[in-house]
Amino acid sequence: MKLTLWTYEGPPHVGAMRVATSMKDMHLVLHGPQGDTYADLLFTMIERRNARPPVAFSTFQAADMGADTGLLLKETIKATQERYQPQAMAVALTCTAELLQDDPEGISRALALPIPVVPLELPSYSRKENFGADETFRALVRALAKPMERTPEVSCNILGPNALGFRHRDDVVEVTKLLEGMGVTVNVVAPMGATPDDLRKLGQAHFNVLLYPETGESAARHLERTCKQPFTKTVPMGVGATRDFLAEVSKLTGLPVKADERTLRQPWWSASVDSTYLTGKRVFLFGDGTHVIAAARIAAKEVGFEVVGMGCYNREMARALRTAAAEYGVEPLITDDYLEVEKAIEAAAPELILGTQMERNIGKKLGIPCAVISAPVHVQDFPARYAPVMGFEGANVLFDSWIHPLVMGLEEHLLTMFREDFEFHDAAGASHHGGKHVERAEAPEPAAQAAPQTQVDTPAVPVVEPSGEIRWMPEAERELKKIPFFVRGKAKRNTELFAAHKGVRDITVETLYEAKAHYAR
Ligand code: SF4
Repeated sequence: MKLTLWTYEGPPHVGAMRVATSMKDMHLVLHGPQGDTYADLLFTMIERRNARPPVAFSTFQAADMGADTGLLLKETIKATQERYQPQAMAVALTCTAELLQDDPEGISRALALPIPVVPLELPSYSRKENFGADETFRALVRALAKPMERTPEVSCNILGPNALGFRHRDDVVEVTKLLEGMGVTVNVVAPMGATPDDLRKLGQAHFNVLLYPETGESAARHLERTCKQPFTKTVPMGVGATRDFLAEVSKLTGLPVKADERTLRQPWWSASVDSTYLTGKRVFLFGDGTHVIAAARIAAKEVGFEVVGMGCYNREMARALRTAAAEYGVEPLITDDYLEVEKAIEAAAPELILGTQMERNIGKKLGIPCAVISAPVHVQDFPARYAPVMGFEGANVLFDSWIHPLVMGLEEHLLTMFREDFEFHDAAGASHHGGKHVERAEAPEPAAQAAPQTQVDTPAVPVVEPSGEIRWMPEAERELKKIPFFVRGKAKRNTELFAAHKGVRDITVETLYEAKAHYAR
C-alpha cells in the first residue's frame, strides 16, 4: 500500500481510452464497475471534445458479483458492435475487473464478431496511463498493420499523438509542415485521427516519425521489425532539436534539408539584450521524460538558464533521463511521488519551475514562478489558439510561455534597489501579472537600522524559522532580506549549509558574508 494524494498518471485503462478516443470508427469496451465512466470527463471537459468517448463500460454493481460478470462483458461487447458498427474494437479490464479474472480474450473470441476485437493486457497494479496508451496502440498496430509496398513518393507515418496529449493537436500540424517542407508526404497520423483501416495502411510509408516515445515507441519498434520501417529518434522540440530532426529525416530519405525559418523568432528573442537577465537563472524541470529532456536542452543551450534539477514521473523514460541529467551535472529524480518532487525543488531553490500541473501548485506554495511543459495538465493547457511546442513555431511558443512567469528585467532591478517601495516590493510579485495591490507587510525598521548597537545587545531571538539546529540572528535575518526575493531562498540555503559545515549554530551577518564569499569562489 502507498498513501497517495496526487497521481501524475491515471490507471492504464485511461491510456487505452486515450487511444480509442483519438481514433475514428474504433470502439473500446472496458470491463469495469459502475462509476468508472468518470474518465469520460477528461475528454469532454479538459480536452473539450464535442462527442462522448467511444468507450462502453460493462458497469457491474455489487449485486452482479454473485452472478456471471463475464456474461455482462460479453453482452456489452455484442451490444456495442451492433449499435456503433465500428471497423474494429478493443477490450480491456479496469483495475477492479482485473481482480475478477473474467477473460476478455476468450469472451471476445467466443462471440466471433465480423470485425477484429483486440484484447488488451493492462496490468493495473504495476503499470500506468502512458503504458496503457503505448500498449493499446501497439496491440492495434500488431493486429492490423501488415508489410506493404511503399508509396511511390517519399512518405512517413507520425506515431504517438493521442487524445489528452499535451499540445499533440498542434504539434502534429507543425511537424507535418516541417515534413512537407522537405518533400515528405504524411501517410498516416496515428492514433490521433486514424481509423482501423488507416492502421492497415501504415506499412506503405517509407519511415516513421516517433513524436512521443511514451505513447508510440512500442508500435514504432513493431513496425521496424515487421514492416522494415526505421523511425526517428529525435523529438523536434526546440530549435536545435528541430534542426537535428530535419537532418535525421534527410539521412533516412536522402532528401536535402529544407527548413523554412522565416517565422522562427526564438533565437533572436533569446539573443536580444532584453534577455540578458535570463542568463544563469536557475530552473528545475519535471514532467514526462520526453518533454523534460527536450526542455532541458532548450533551457540550457537556447535560453541560457542553468538547469539545477530535472526528473520524470514515468519510469519507462528513466534511462534516457538519467543520461540527460548527467549532461547538466544534476541528480536525476525518477519518482511519481509529488512530495519527493516538492522536497527536491525546495532543496534546489530554483528561480523558475518548468513542470506539470502539480509543479504549478508546488510553485504556488513555495512562491516560485512556474510554466507548464508536460501532462498532466488542466483545461487551460488545451488552448483554443494554435500553440504547438514542437518545430519552429513551438520554439516561439515556449519562449513566450517560459519567460512570462518571471519578473521582468527592469522590475527585478528596481526591486533590488528600492525594496522599501509601497507598491513594488517582494510580496507584491511581478506587476505584469496583475492581481490585487498588496500592501508591504512590514515597515522598515528605523531603530534597527539607525542603532545597530542596541540590537546587538538585545537577546538574540531567531526571527527566521530555524532550520534544524541552526538559528538566524535578527541582524543576519535583516541582511538576508536585502537579497532580492528570487535568489533569497538559494542564499538562505547556502548560508545554512555553510554554517552546518563550519559547525556554526547562530548565523550572524558575518556568517552570511563568509558564506557568500565561499560560494562565489
Ligand atoms: S476500477 Fe480502477 S479506475 Fe475504476 S474506480 Fe476502481 S480503482 Fe478507480
